[in-house]
Amino acid sequence: MRVAGFAVAYFLLAQLSYGASFLPEGALATWWAPSGLALAVLVRAERRRYPWFLGAVLVVAFAINAYQQIGPIPVLYRTLADVLEPLASSWALRRMFGIELRLGTVREVLGFAVVAGVLGPAVGAGVVTVGTLFVNPSELSAGMFGLTWFGGAILGGVLFAPVILTWQGRFRPVRLSRWVEAGLLGLSLGAVAVAAMLIRPASILSPLLGFAAFPPLVWSALRFGPSGAARAAVVTSLFSLWPFAAWQPELPAWQIIVSQGIYALGVLTALSLSALTEEAARQRRLAEAQTRQTEESLALVERAYQEAREALQLREDFLSIASHELKTPLTPLAARLSFLQRRLADGQTLSPESIDKPLQSLRKLTELINDLLDTSQIEHGRLNLHLQPQPLEEIVRLGVDPFRKGSPLHRLVVDVPDESLWVEADRERMAQVVANLVDNAIKYSPSGGEVRVRLRPHPEGVELTVSDQGIGIPEDQQTRLFERFYRAANSGVSYGGLGLGLYITHDIVDLHHGRIWVESTPGAGSTFHVVLPRLAHAEIWESLH
Ligand code: ADP
Repeated sequence: MRVAGFAVAYFLLAQLSYGASFLPEGALATWWAPSGLALAVLVRAERRRYPWFLGAVLVVAFAINAYQQIGPIPVLYRTLADVLEPLASSWALRRMFGIELRLGTVREVLGFAVVAGVLGPAVGAGVVTVGTLFVNPSELSAGMFGLTWFGGAILGGVLFAPVILTWQGRFRPVRLSRWVEAGLLGLSLGAVAVAAMLIRPASILSPLLGFAAFPPLVWSALRFGPSGAARAAVVTSLFSLWPFAAWQPELPAWQIIVSQGIYALGVLTALSLSALTEEAARQRRLAEAQTRQTEESLALVERAYQEAREALQLREDFLSIASHELKTPLTPLAARLSFLQRRLADGQTLSPESIDKPLQSLRKLTELINDLLDTSQIEHGRLNLHLQPQPLEEIVRLGVDPFRKGSPLHRLVVDVPDESLWVEADRERMAQVVANLVDNAIKYSPSGGEVRVRLRPHPEGVELTVSDQGIGIPEDQQTRLFERFYRAANSGVSYGGLGLGLYITHDIVDLHHGRIWVESTPGAGSTFHVVLPRLAHAEIWESLH
């Protein structure tokens, strides 16, 4: 299918080239585009398709030459030249650059210029010159004939092949201004062609006018890259050669050859320039990417440093808070004990209630130290649980009990359903979770209110909620509460605490494969939710028997 398409394109380009051709003898094309097409297609062809494409060149070139009615021998050597030319060029280019040749570097453009502009055409021109001499040894125009072939082949290769080699899909300018610019470019190339037509009679100026095509060619290279330069080259060749054929048949062959050389030179200049620009752009992109990378790693280092500093600050804050917190119950405890000691020394009797206060301080101290120990265990991954199936409502009662006759300001409501909700839990640790939440609920509602502990079935298992009507937690800090040492801005200095309770709570819930989160409105209160997996009846039954 592809080979057939190629054959048709080759044939059509041959017709076009003949249409644009002019020579006094009328036998050769000034611009042999099919050889450029064959060159590009053979460079790109996969190995297994290569012979098919080459065969197509052979068949179509033979047909075209035979149609010219030039006698059997010329048909043979011209066909041979038509096949050998792209064969030699494509072989050399594939060896040098592989099939991915894109004319994107100066090295590629120079290699391409030597191969498509000299090597291939020399092979073809050599064959036809020898052939012409073979048919008619006295033929003086054989050299001239070879030279025109040479020129036609150069233009075919240099002007046409780049369009295919630099092809990157459709011309897709994103902005309207690019379309306008491309249009202007085409117009200026056309103006060169019109100018060439207007110069009459044909003179030395006509081919030299090819130089006028240089500015737009350079423009195309700088603004549209290698593919833009290649397209401009084709437009140039069509616009500028066609007028010679159509309007100035009296032009001598040497003038055409000079003009061909100028155009080929212009196109090669444009291609080299565009390759240079591409290379520069590539370098710039590379440098930019490197800069970006450096900046990114710098930002990473900076962040790591910032985090380390924050962690350090957190630890320092924690140490000062911890020593303060430990000292708070210790001072009254010491004062109270020496007071009691004095009374004992005075021979006074002491009521059992007189050691209520010291005991309370002692409990507070024990709690703080336990929190510290728990945290250190969590840090070392050593918080071990002793899991057993049990009804969660029992654990809730265990956790809530110490608060029952606590604060006169708060109303503690425990709301559990009639049915038992079984979970697999560590009794002490889960009670600690309940106690922590209730403790916070009381602590952070200084003006009192209801503290409600509620137990309900939940789609994911069992849900425990502890709600208060206290100070609430600012929205942006709600997710950080469960971090180690974290204390929200609401707690300030007026509420004691180490910022460890919720961290430990979260870890315990985690170890029970549960979830914990908070809903809170500053000024209105908070609700902490804990969801735990519920045990199925079979599992409970099995564990009990
Ligand atoms: P702390 O020892 O400071 O109470 P926690 O880990 O128990 O440490 O709690 C962390 C922070 O979460 C507290 O400092 C407080 O800002 C906030 N917090 C916890 N529970 C509540 C609550 N029920 N209402 C308002 N804020 C709360």
